[in-house]
Amino acid sequence: RGLSVGVDIGGTKVAAGVVDVHGRILAEARRATPGQDPRAVEEVITELVRELSAEYRIRSVGIGAAGWMDLSNSTVLFSPHLAWRNEPLRRNLEKLLRRRVTVVNDADAAAWAEWRFGAGRGESRLVCVTLGTGIGGAMIMGGRVERGRHGVAGEFGHQIIVPQGHRCECGNRGCWEQYASGNALGREARELAAANSPVAKAIIDAAPKDGTAITGALVTRLAMEGDAASRELVDDVGQWLGLGLANLAAALDPGTFIIGGGLSAAGELLLDPARRAFGRNLTGRGFRPAARIERAALGPEAGLIGAADLSRLLSRSGT
Ligand code: BGC
Ligand code: ZN
Repeated sequence: RGLSVGVDIGGTKVAAGVVDVHGRILAEARRATPGQDPRAVEEVITELVRELSAEYRIRSVGIGAAGWMDLSNSTVLFSPHLAWRNEPLRRNLEKLLRRRVTVVNDADAAAWAEWRFGAGRGESRLVCVTLGTGIGGAMIMGGRVERGRHGVAGEFGHQIIVPQGHRCECGNRGCWEQYASGNALGREARELAAANSPVAKAIIDAAPKDGTAITGALVTRLAMEGDAASRELVDDVGQWLGLGLANLAAALDPGTFIIGGGLSAAGELLLDPARRAFGRNLTGRGFRPAARIERAALGPEAGLIGAADLSRLLSRSGT
């Protein structure tokens, strides 16, 4: 009873699950995100939804997509990491699946799940930041997802924090997600490995021999296993994270920041430097209450749980 399918489409993987009204996952399936073809992405979503709904009676389907949704939740206006440009994703999926589908931004979905079932419960002003391929951002204020005037509020990953800095997939330079995401961690590790520094030995040894790149996920794992160089790289990313959060606090003054996405698996190795940099850069520090910085409680599953839960609510209200 009351089951929904949630699908989370990120830059590298598509994760889907059957979710009950308490936010519990009853079954899960995942695939790699197929390259740069919107049709191929739709096919993977369709496959996953069909696979999961063959075994359960599903009441609603929700998609959390790594892109900028218009206010009516129909069109992905733009996505830095996927090939969506004014893509009528909802209509396309409804045709393929022959049922109603709710489409939301992936970070909005994750924030919603954390607010309903996770680390954000009871928080009246919550800001959520997800660290993966890019940086996702979302705000839950007064029990609602704050979408802005056009649906695209919360694109914190593209605030420019280093003028003329690293090039970003959005087209600009120096975006926060070029410094504090899983991709940024991978890039820094590759640079260290390319320098052939002896401190990078563990990273070089662990690098896949099939020619695929050193990734943020790999460095996160090595850091958790105790590798000193990987810990330094995670620490650097944590400091960038804290700096960006201080900027967000100046603008938004939330009670809690929740940090989710794959990179949050690093836990205190990431959050400790983030809290220090946050404290060091927060405007008015010492004279104002500071927000708490917490790790997401639902881990990388938050996105699909939130997409499922939002589909239940939005399909009832007819939006
Ligand atoms: C996109 C966001 C998305 C985030 C996480 C960013 O680059 O602009 O829309 O939520 O990545 O996937
Ligand atoms: Zn950008």
